[in-house]
Amino acid sequence: MSDIIQLLPDSIANQIAAGEVIQRPASVVKELLENSIDAKATEVNLIVKDAGKTLIQVIDNGLGMSETDARMSLERHATSKIRSAEDLFSIRTMGFRGEALASIASIAHLEMRTKKEDLEVGSLLSVEGSVVKCQEPVQTKTGTNIQVKNLFFNVPARRKFLKSHNVETRHIIDEFERVALVHPEIKFTFHHNDNELFVLEKGNFRKRIVSIFGKKYNQQLVPVEEATNLVKISGFIVKPEAARKTRGEQFFFVNNRFIKSHYLHHSIQEAMDELIPKGYHPGYFLNLEVPSDFIDINIHPTKTEIKFEDERAIYAILNSAVKQAIGKFNVAPSLDFEQETSFNTPVYNGDRPLKMPEVKVNPNFNPFDEEKKKSFSGGRPVESPQQKSNRENWEKLYRSNASLNQFNLENQLPTLPTEEKEDTTLQQREEQRISSGFDQQEEHTGTNESKTIQLHKKYIMAQIRSGFVIIHQSRAHERILYEEYIKAMAMNSGWSQQQLFPQTVTFNVGDADMITELMSELQSIGFDISAFGKNTFVIQGLPAYATEYDPKELLESVIEHYKSSMQSLKLDKKEAFARSLARKTAIKSGKILAPEEMTKLIDELFACENPYTTPSGKTIVSTITLDELNKRFQ
Ligand code: ADP
Ligand code: MG
Repeated sequence: MSDIIQLLPDSIANQIAAGEVIQRPASVVKELLENSIDAKATEVNLIVKDAGKTLIQVIDNGLGMSETDARMSLERHATSKIRSAEDLFSIRTMGFRGEALASIASIAHLEMRTKKEDLEVGSLLSVEGSVVKCQEPVQTKTGTNIQVKNLFFNVPARRKFLKSHNVETRHIIDEFERVALVHPEIKFTFHHNDNELFVLEKGNFRKRIVSIFGKKYNQQLVPVEEATNLVKISGFIVKPEAARKTRGEQFFFVNNRFIKSHYLHHSIQEAMDELIPKGYHPGYFLNLEVPSDFIDINIHPTKTEIKFEDERAIYAILNSAVKQAIGKFNVAPSLDFEQETSFNTPVYNGDRPLKMPEVKVNPNFNPFDEEKKKSFSGGRPVESPQQKSNRENWEKLYRSNASLNQFNLENQLPTLPTEEKEDTTLQQREEQRISSGFDQQEEHTGTNESKTIQLHKKYIMAQIRSGFVIIHQSRAHERILYEEYIKAMAMNSGWSQQQLFPQTVTFNVGDADMITELMSELQSIGFDISAFGKNTFVIQGLPAYATEYDPKELLESVIEHYKSSMQSLKLDKKEAFARSLARKTAIKSGKILAPEEMTKLIDELFACENPYTTPSGKTIVSTITLDELNKRFQ
């Protein structure tokens, strides 16, 4: 019996390999661009015709190849990038397998012009389906110029399965963007059918993002930086408020190569969960540097999937880095942005000596006085580091501002809108009390700490150094109370105000069951409540923030909200209860606030873990920068 096993001819082996590496024109683009980068090019030009089906050309000014190298580069497993066994580690990292050019040459017409700097002439090499058609000296610039024509000419099945021009062009653009993004130090151009699609000048990462995805990103990028032994993270997340309904720009790079990772994506999603409404997607451009022996990038032939040795740790580090970045940005929305810092520098006008801004404090003003305790939460509880930095940043921005005295809003808008005069007598009295407080404050403008103004009994406007913020009063209070309640439940630290007369309250069966179920949560938050027979309870005290409510009505409406959020959101018990109670007990739109009440609300808001959105993800704070304001007056 004769032997039946034969070695495959190289050209067939190459074609098989090509099937793995080259799936569509975009794969060729990716391989060629990466080779140019590996060859240390500082300028790379991509020219594509008919979505890559007719021509893909990459011209670089990199190192170029000698005549022999040019020939060798088309052999399978030919790579200049691995010399020793140790280098095998970097195969794993960078995906050098010496397969790309050989694969491309086996399924297309490839023409390569290349010259090393120190040589007079370069080489021209022409290959069709692995067959060398010609090799000769040629006059060409230093660097490499590769043309790939008639892709899949000898693999009709593949050619047939290519998608429409639009789809294939989109894939090419995706690959181009992925490569260009992480190499802002290289100039890239991209022409398609003689249209100029991209001209990307050298710059930094931010500039590259902006020149690829548009100017609007300039305002929307929040820097993320973290360095640990395991991983170094740098890059940007897109501000939560700019999150998109469609999957936006989501880019992970590991050691400068684009990768996809659901796992890491989840880490970011989780970190921004509370800030992004359901159905929206976070945007990010993040570069992870990981020691090469910690990853295996060759899991997938096209090298976009990756396996980390310590995936969980990287997940956690990334998650906290993103949270930290958001935290900083929450209170200092524009301080993070290089190009805006000029607005934070007071302009020296030359005719008087520069004076350090000083902060004066009204010694008689006590925002924590008894009366206010009812409408707002008590003293500041123990802060987490995040809360502390939120608050301190806020104070820096907001307080020091009182002495800068620019755009003094109170002076420009001295009276409340007339619309409010139509309200009830109680509110009129309150209004008088407030506007007189307003006037008093004006007497020492620049010394008072409250540069706030209430708009439509619904929003609080406060000046910050880089512009102003508008705060939704009811949502702000909801956030404050929610965090208080969560903490109170965890630490059993709710503060109860005793009622003069204990009340006996009877609920319907369903609500009574719920109250029994929530008894310990109610008590830990400050309800002094105990069962008193069938469906009846005695209430002897209420949480400080709830004293003005009728206990029965309050509990009934909290339970109703609680039930529906348990059902629809599948929250856990404490979470759902804290949300419901906060929602119900928060001050409402329509309530007029005194300046010191506003100040206190703002203070407490920025002492929160997350001052930016309500527990259900609604926006609390919106920032308008001076930049934006100035634009409107151009
Ligand atoms: P790999 O990149 O994995 O080494 P390739 O098949 O992509 O394998 O390339 C083979 C070799 O050809 C490279 O190792 C490099 O030496 C050379 N080469 C390819 N493209 C270029 C280029 N644009 N400039 C200089 N050398 C190149
Ligand atoms: Mg390569």
